[in-house]
Amino acid sequence: MYDVSKIRADFPILSRKVNGKPLVYLDNGASAQKPQVVIDAITRAYADEYANVHRGLHFLSNLATDNYEAVRGKVATFLNAKSEDEIIFNSGTTEGINMVAYGWAMPRMQAGDEIILSVMEHHANIVPWHFLRERQGVVLKWVDVDATGALDPQAVLDAITPRTKLIAVTHMSNVLGTKVDVKTICAGAHAKGVAVLVDGSQAAVHMPVDVQDIDADFYAITGHKLYGPSGSGAIHVKSERMAEMRPFIGGGDMIREVSKDGVVYNDAPMMFEAGTPGIVQMIGMGVGIDYMMGHGLDAIAAHEDSLRDYAVAKLNGLNWIQVQGITPDKGAIFSFTMDGAGHAHDISTILDKKGVAVRAGQHCTGPLMEHLGLNATCRASFAMYNTTDEIDVWIEALELAHDLFA
Ligand code: PLP
Repeated sequence: MYDVSKIRADFPILSRKVNGKPLVYLDNGASAQKPQVVIDAITRAYADEYANVHRGLHFLSNLATDNYEAVRGKVATFLNAKSEDEIIFNSGTTEGINMVAYGWAMPRMQAGDEIILSVMEHHANIVPWHFLRERQGVVLKWVDVDATGALDPQAVLDAITPRTKLIAVTHMSNVLGTKVDVKTICAGAHAKGVAVLVDGSQAAVHMPVDVQDIDADFYAITGHKLYGPSGSGAIHVKSERMAEMRPFIGGGDMIREVSKDGVVYNDAPMMFEAGTPGIVQMIGMGVGIDYMMGHGLDAIAAHEDSLRDYAVAKLNGLNWIQVQGITPDKGAIFSFTMDGAGHAHDISTILDKKGVAVRAGQHCTGPLMEHLGLNATCRASFAMYNTTDEIDVWIEALELAHDLFA
């Protein structure tokens, strides 16, 4: 039985006040709050179990290595990967996508080769591809979403030409909440010899993900949205693609031997993890994943779907709010504008006075904002600990803002 009050009690920050009001934290799309078990694991890792990993032959180094490496298996289980050897650790989705851009795409793409992107990608899944456009003349092709915010997988596949090498697409939009049928995209792309990178930053928080079923070549996640620390993340890379990838960052840990004449790299996935990693961050991410799995990924998704439906019903009653992204099965993410409001920042400032934390701005999605003809939106994004009571507080705060702007 999913007990949201019990879950809330696990997150110390949720009992604090903001501007004299109980905090209503609806900025989970940007970063999620941390349960006490994650905070405790971070403290324990530093206070009692800290040393560098993979290097020492002493007790603490071995302990830290075991704790750190155990996370690879947790991520593999979380994503239903075939093997933990397909999991590369990093500092988050941004690094994961850059690694694919530099390590896989750059060496195999020539001027005129194409990458297909949806218009709703986060800048983390745009800017690395612009680097390839600027530096080697790769062509970026954009596929629009429809008026509901849906992305037609066939439209993505129809954009493939003999020059297409990669499709880079989100599994869930951080602005619209739209879920993308990445499985169909992967099947169609693979039939034409095209690889697919999926940005799973948002999807992995809101729904169970099965990378074997989806069959993407690359699937990126980020720890701080999974109730873990910032600076933690991972990317699942299919072993065939990993074998084609060149190391992106060079340094310690990713090598077996270094001489004046050359380098022998470590085996994958270590080959792609240079330098002292985010040891404690990754341990914390593992505990965040344990926490989610302990509550059940299906149960979390069902809870968030009920929040989404409740919020949709409430927002439908407010004809002065325009919600962007109205696909019925979307994630519980609501970007909106309000009649009469100046800038989205003004709405969020009023909500903040009521203790309601939302994000306002472009949400790192310049091309989507251009497509929508907007310069900014407010965004309320929900997590496993949010409640319908909090939605009521949010709606009341919106009504107040609307009255103030009238
Ligand atoms: N992709 C999406 C859809 C996101 O929402 C985010 C973060 O907001 C990112 C990528 C980037 O993640 P990070 O900043 O953790 O690397």
